[in-house]
Amino acid sequence: MFDKLRSALKALSKAITERTLDEKEVDKLLWDFKVALMESDVAYEVVEELTSRLKGEIVGTKIQRSMNSSDYIKERLMNVVKEIFSGAKQFDMLDMIKKKNALGEPFIILFLGVNGTGKTTTIAKSANILKKSGFSVILACSDTHRAGAIEQLTEHANRLSVKVISQKYGADPAAVARDAVLHAKSRKIDVVLIDTAGRMQTSKNLMEEMAKITRVVNPDLKIFVGDALAGNDAVSQAKEFQEFTNFDAAILTKTDADVKGGAALSIAYVTGKPIIYLGTGQSYDDLVAFNVDSFVSSLFEEK
Ligand code: GDP
Repeated sequence: MFDKLRSALKALSKAITERTLDEKEVDKLLWDFKVALMESDVAYEVVEELTSRLKGEIVGTKIQRSMNSSDYIKERLMNVVKEIFSGAKQFDMLDMIKKKNALGEPFIILFLGVNGTGKTTTIAKSANILKKSGFSVILACSDTHRAGAIEQLTEHANRLSVKVISQKYGADPAAVARDAVLHAKSRKIDVVLIDTAGRMQTSKNLMEEMAKITRVVNPDLKIFVGDALAGNDAVSQAKEFQEFTNFDAAILTKTDADVKGGAALSIAYVTGKPIIYLGTGQSYDDLVAFNVDSFVSSLFEEK
């Protein structure tokens, strides 16, 4: 009997306590976030897409009168960013390795990325983590182009007391990778980490070489290594490697330098692949698992 009255009163109190966000206000608030994201080195196309998606969702929504509209939009934006990271198919690398090893097979990881991003160092850090987790590891020097690449990887292998397979400069990188896999199979080594070239005459040659190694060894995981300091360059590299190699995950290096995190968000957004580790320094222990919540909080924290 009182239903009508009750709902009429409810509607009235809502109208007093709630207000609608109109386009003008949303535009103004989103502009501030746009600038903040760009200042954090998020790629322009990603900023545009994120903010226009959010605008579509927010214009016309009702919020509590007591609520600060800027706080509301910030929270919505944080959720969208979290979704970008969590939307990517997450996986537990150590668990995947155990499953493959249980079949009596070595787990094969191919590392991809341009020279100077920290690929070789990241391979050494990964070998260190894997050894500490109880896995045996072998490295393959399939960068047979860059002067010094073989010596650099061998130096890391010696320091970490793991075996490295290499041939001469100019040798077929796919053959080196296959040698390492055969070696791992015969010696029952758990994980093969393959270093690859990061620059060739043309990027087409480089991508063809990656495709050939992939065909020959059929890696369980292809990991793109990106440099957080490279900003938009890291994003275009990620796009290109994604298109030609369809990698499974990314590791972002040099996050200990004064970077604002934009590259991680951009790479996750444009590739749809998870970021699994962050490089946080030059020593072997400086590789940490990527944590979405703490990353997103740091991206939005007041400076
Ligand atoms: P590659 O050419 O991609 O194999 O790159 P390298 O592994 O040779 O690394 C290039 C430089 O970046 C080296 O001086 C590394 O010590 C440095 N580096 C790699 N990862 C990190 C990191 O996470 N933080 C910092 N500060 N330096 C890094």
